[in-house]
Amino acid sequence: MVADYIPILAEADPESFGVCVADVDGGLHEVGDTRVPFSIQSISKAFVYALVCDALGHEKAFDVIGVNNTGLPFNSVVAIELNDGHPMNPMVNAGALATTALVPGRTADDKWETVRSGLSRFAGRQLVVDEDVYRSEAATNHRNRAIAQLLESYGRIHVDPIEVVDVYTRQCSLLVDARDLAVMGATLADGGVNPLSGERVVSASVCRDLLAVLAATGLYERSGEWLYEIGLPGKSGVAGGLVTVAPGKVGIGTYSPPLDSAGNSIRGQVATAYLSRALGLNIFASS
Ligand code: GLN
Repeated sequence: MVADYIPILAEADPESFGVCVADVDGGLHEVGDTRVPFSIQSISKAFVYALVCDALGHEKAFDVIGVNNTGLPFNSVVAIELNDGHPMNPMVNAGALATTALVPGRTADDKWETVRSGLSRFAGRQLVVDEDVYRSEAATNHRNRAIAQLLESYGRIHVDPIEVVDVYTRQCSLLVDARDLAVMGATLADGGVNPLSGERVVSASVCRDLLAVLAATGLYERSGEWLYEIGLPGKSGVAGGLVTVAPGKVGIGTYSPPLDSAGNSIRGQVATAYLSRALGLNIFASS
């Protein structure tokens, strides 16, 4: 099933399929629809979290946002209620909204500029918003507004929650392709230096912390199954993108819109499992 709760995502071509592997030394290996643009959606959560961790530091990020899997769907409010308003982890909507609220910048526009330019540095090119996706999601994201207001009611967000949702909706609407995701993943694999541009985007310790969080939470309530099969940190988005990181080696970007019931690209998981085995990337394997 292609995602349809954001109306415009239902128009995606379910046959599109692209896979790109980016090496930490700058090599790119691509097959299929690696240049078809799609909205980054939840994959943005990983990279915005990296920018915020760079600003907040290890301890504060742990205290304020958390690192534990909720075991619940990405848009659930249940974990917030069960944990005294704590958002639990940055890869579900509650934690991602709390993270976006902490992006450096005095105004919402300043925060947005930090996000847009930061994610562009991960990709090594200027990323732009798909205005149709932004409008489609902004018109229907009542649940995200409710989550942000719930966080505010618990004193977990200290800026206007509706403005936070707006920046978050823009970040989810940034257009990428499978090649961009591979390069963004390779930047994390490379300790925060984009292997194509040579630019340092975040520190190596931020990459280490983010990859631990992705291993535990990157595929929502399916994160355990993913780690068991693939053995690498990854992050999915409901438009069909998936980024996977083999530390010190490669970033893998895939695009295929049909999703499993948790919101993870089905073909993306199968292709990445194959690559993990074929290239010997599983971080838990001793040989
Ligand atoms: N923008 C989407 C949302 O907030 C992202 C969800 C996702 O990719 N899982 O609902």
